[in-house]
Amino acid sequence: MTTTDNFNDGATATVDTDIVLDVQDLSVTFSSEDGPLKAVRGVSYRVRRGEALGIVGESGSGKSVTSMAIMGLLPKSASVSGSARVLGQEVIGLNDAQISKVRGDKIAMIFQDPLTSLNPVYTIGYQIAEAVLTHRKVTKQEARKRAVDLLDKVGIPHPDRRVDQYPHELSGGMRQRVVIAIAMANDPDVIIADEPTTALDVTVQAQVLEALEAARKETGAALVLITHDLGVVAGHVDRVAVMYAGRLVETGSVEDVFYRPRMPYALGLLGSLP
Ligand code: ADP
Ligand code: MG
Repeated sequence: MTTTDNFNDGATATVDTDIVLDVQDLSVTFSSEDGPLKAVRGVSYRVRRGEALGIVGESGSGKSVTSMAIMGLLPKSASVSGSARVLGQEVIGLNDAQISKVRGDKIAMIFQDPLTSLNPVYTIGYQIAEAVLTHRKVTKQEARKRAVDLLDKVGIPHPDRRVDQYPHELSGGMRQRVVIAIAMANDPDVIIADEPTTALDVTVQAQVLEALEAARKETGAALVLITHDLGVVAGHVDRVAVMYAGRLVETGSVEDVFYRPRMPYALGLLGSLP
């Protein structure tokens, strides 16, 4: 347990330093013309250093809103309660400047559409090198070399040529792997990937999941892999949490949730297994 609520940058006060993300009783309510919409209802979960947690659930079950609340990316009209600690630092209630520092230093977020994270006017090498230069005291040349190295690590063929290309010159799967390379350059403690493979062909999905695996190995980061498709997380996570109607209804090992689901709902998701 923490002893103080501290909203300052870099504040850490947790005893169990092995827990990198600790979400407790998180709720999100949107106001709408039809009255309040409770999108997230008392969600709690913990992720340990280096662990991979899958969050699965049907569309609209609150997976994205949960992580957007943690990342401080919800519109101001959303009412958020509860707690989310990243390396012991409370992130719910931080102001924009404070939470953007947490996003840059501690959490990397990967979205379904890689173009939301990439800048169309800069080469991919430039964008990876920029991330390297914010975290390491290296020369521009060394940062570029590191960019090529990271492109190689996420499985991009001919990284020394690709490094000078622009996002539009790459396929969707390659772009997503570039986003993962940028996440690696930021050396995060937690990577939250929200439906990172949903827009991609099955063969390409595997490459992106392997790139996430490489990122986890390289940085030692914990991974929260969000998907509506249980089949996606099967070989790639240590534990699965199932969301339904804003609640986290089941958590367990992959085997437990896949083969001995407690809820008929989780059983229904098995339809998406390959
Ligand atoms: P999932 O990611 O599991 O598909 P979401 O977390 O995106 O689901 O959405 C959960 C619920 O919150 C849905 O009912 C959705 O319509 C609602 N919702 C999401 N974002 C907003 C928003 N910005 N304003 C109002 N309601 C929203
Ligand atoms: Mg979503």
